[in-house]
Amino acid sequence: MQHDLITRPTIDDALKTLKTHYGYPSFRPGQEHVIQAILAGQDVMAVMPTGAGKSVCYQIPAAVLGGLTLVVSPLISLMADQVRALKEAGIRGSYYNSTLKPRVRPEVLRRALAGWYDLMYVAPERLGDPEFRAFAAQAHVPLVAVDEAHCVSQWGNDFRPAYREIASFVDSLPQRPCVAALTATATSRVQTDVRNLLGLRNPVVEVSGFDRPNLKLAAFELTPKKREAWTCNYVMQHPHDTGIVYATTRKKVDQIADELQQCGARVAAYHAGMSDAERTSAQNAFVNDDVQVMVATNAFGMGIDKSNVRYVINCGLPQTLEEYYQEAGRAGRDGDPAECYLLWSRGDIRTCHFFIDNTEFAEGVSERERQIVRNNREHLLGEMIGYAMSSSCLRARVLRYFGQRMVVPEGGCGGCSVCTGETGERYLHVERSSRTRVDTPSAKREPVKHRLSLVKDADTIDTVSLVSKTSYESSDEEMFQRLRALRKSIADDASVPPYVVFADKTLRAMVRRRPQSLEELLEVPGVGEVKLQRYGQAFLDELQG
Ligand code: ADP
Ligand code: ZN
Repeated sequence: MQHDLITRPTIDDALKTLKTHYGYPSFRPGQEHVIQAILAGQDVMAVMPTGAGKSVCYQIPAAVLGGLTLVVSPLISLMADQVRALKEAGIRGSYYNSTLKPRVRPEVLRRALAGWYDLMYVAPERLGDPEFRAFAAQAHVPLVAVDEAHCVSQWGNDFRPAYREIASFVDSLPQRPCVAALTATATSRVQTDVRNLLGLRNPVVEVSGFDRPNLKLAAFELTPKKREAWTCNYVMQHPHDTGIVYATTRKKVDQIADELQQCGARVAAYHAGMSDAERTSAQNAFVNDDVQVMVATNAFGMGIDKSNVRYVINCGLPQTLEEYYQEAGRAGRDGDPAECYLLWSRGDIRTCHFFIDNTEFAEGVSERERQIVRNNREHLLGEMIGYAMSSSCLRARVLRYFGQRMVVPEGGCGGCSVCTGETGERYLHVERSSRTRVDTPSAKREPVKHRLSLVKDADTIDTVSLVSKTSYESSDEEMFQRLRALRKSIADDASVPPYVVFADKTLRAMVRRRPQSLEELLEVPGVGEVKLQRYGQAFLDELQG
């Protein structure tokens, strides 16, 4: 039978792709809603917290829609990695930004027109280039996804003027694509800007819950000296876990990183005072599991989709609760339990007020406008301090800030330091000796010679070189570490971060289920057909060995 109706892919097609390429059995509720709307050709505005799975919302449509999906993103330095991760999952991606050599650019566009790719990441600044406009006018673009969409708003923290060009770029296309805006920023002012400035047409709105049940939230008041000791003890007590320590100034970052290094931790540092090359190397070391902890200012983290961060410790107060929840939210994106500690002192509050009093303004901003901005910032700081000092459930408090009501059960939420009564004492009185690095069972102490921010070569570091006795008591833990080591060697061979091969959560599920065949391995969430083919046998051998 002949008919001239174009058949749109359905949510079932999308689900099949999710299973084959990502190995996940189902969409999360928010994802399904967004993808359904995109497949129906509707604009979308998705507000989903970090870790909710925004990328799947455009990557799966890109794979099933045909044509070329454009993904506008400010995170140029991550695009190559994102494309590599897509490739691992068997999705054909590309990117177009200033890091591409000028002579390579026409070739990328030529291939895109020839149908080589399902998806192209593009920097907002490139949308105005005449070459790019000419290319886009010829390409079939069913979807423009705008990642980190809050960058269009001056009210957000990450304003990118080039985001203002997106609407005119979309208008310039011969056929208007569906536009999907994605962000983790919840303030209503920013949301309104996103809708208007991106020119969304009757968007389907998806606001996912901001609750992150797998995160433990804790806030402790500790003097700066104590919180540094606390942090060192915590890190050394969690030798197998990867984490982030945020400090408020460059000087603090260096100081804490030094201290951690003294304790024997494998550390990278990141702040705006370092060169681009140093920062990239620190970031790679962290993403590739070559170090266990990243010490950084708030310059670090946007767009880092490392899913197996097990803890985030803030040494000092962020300026807003929104910033804090973004930073803390980088823990536990894989859904496994993770811990977020806010270690604050009275001095931090004074410092924050000082920053506000000394806000820099552009010329021509009137005194009245300045006062409004300062008042606004004071108000936001007040919410942050309220959280730090809260004597009621921290989870309920942060959700209320994001406009969500939570009824705290009689016995408490079970996952915050107020409800469980935990105090900052726990990691304060750990004996110095147990903080010292242990190199496999025949422990030998070594002085640390290297300067920490310049991370050592990956091959000098063995992911299983730090073992605590307790963890080896369990054979499951031992198997998990073996799978991690296998994953690390596969990842290094393929030059991708380990979590791109399989997430920690997937490795844990393998350990729990102990699959006996490739068919059984395919049942493990996170193992899709593509990765099964590539790595299945190696992991099966390790599990059975
Ligand atoms: P976001 O961009 O919203 O912060 P990501 O897209 O990085 O989040 O996804 C966070 C984690 O959740 C990733 O490890 C991703 O593979 C995983 N994930 C995404 N969708 C699903 C799903 N439907 N089922 C299971 N895990 C998922
Ligand atoms: Zn609670």
